[in-house]
Amino acid sequence: MKYILINPVTDQMYEKDILNNFLKINGYTRVFTNNNWANVVMEKYDSTIKNTKNTTVIDMRCPLAVDVVKENTNKNENIIFPDIEPILIHCAREISLREDLKDGEKIIITPCKSLKEMGNKLLLDNTIFMTWLEFLKYLNNNIEGNFLKSTPIPLGFFDKLNVRKESLSGDENIKNYFKNKKFEGLDIIEMLYCHNGCHNGDGVVENENY
Ligand code: SF4
Repeated sequence: MKYILINPVTDQMYEKDILNNFLKINGYTRVFTNNNWANVVMEKYDSTIKNTKNTTVIDMRCPLAVDVVKENTNKNENIIFPDIEPILIHCAREISLREDLKDGEKIIITPCKSLKEMGNKLLLDNTIFMTWLEFLKYLNNNIEGNFLKSTPIPLGFFDKLNVRKESLSGDENIKNYFKNKKFEGLDIIEMLYCHNGCHNGDGVVENENY
């Protein structure tokens, strides 16, 4: 068997039945997680914020955004990079370990190369990460999708938490924000490297709009 986990951005680009049928005729069974990993991740941040008074917590969900922060801050800044993996990595760990999926290889589709690289470095059992564009190339097949004007992963992930926060997207915005140390006094900085959300990632659009 060959199993595939589709990220929310790719999911939103297609009619559900059309996408599932395309995967099926190419030999893949679409799978879903049993756990709500977004909630688990949210709780991890909530707990981290409560346990780190007077320090700003960095959102670790987007690897490229985290790189920008590291490049534009120094070790003495009053910030922490918590050991919390992106939501898709949490999902992949469940899929990789699931007893009911043990009989096959697992493909995890990412919206960008950075999440793919982060995932593949983990060497999860019988599990490979690929961007959607790479997967289509690998199949040597195509399926016409909708260009998403908005994202299923917008800024605002931490809005449910009663904390002092800022939300940023885009390379320049993140860079300038940290260069100017605007994070001081805040509990958490939410960040997505792609402008306005993951639908612009280099794993789903050919000419990525960073
Ligand atoms: S698609 Fe863009 S915003 Fe989303 S995780 Fe990847 S780099 Fe970050």
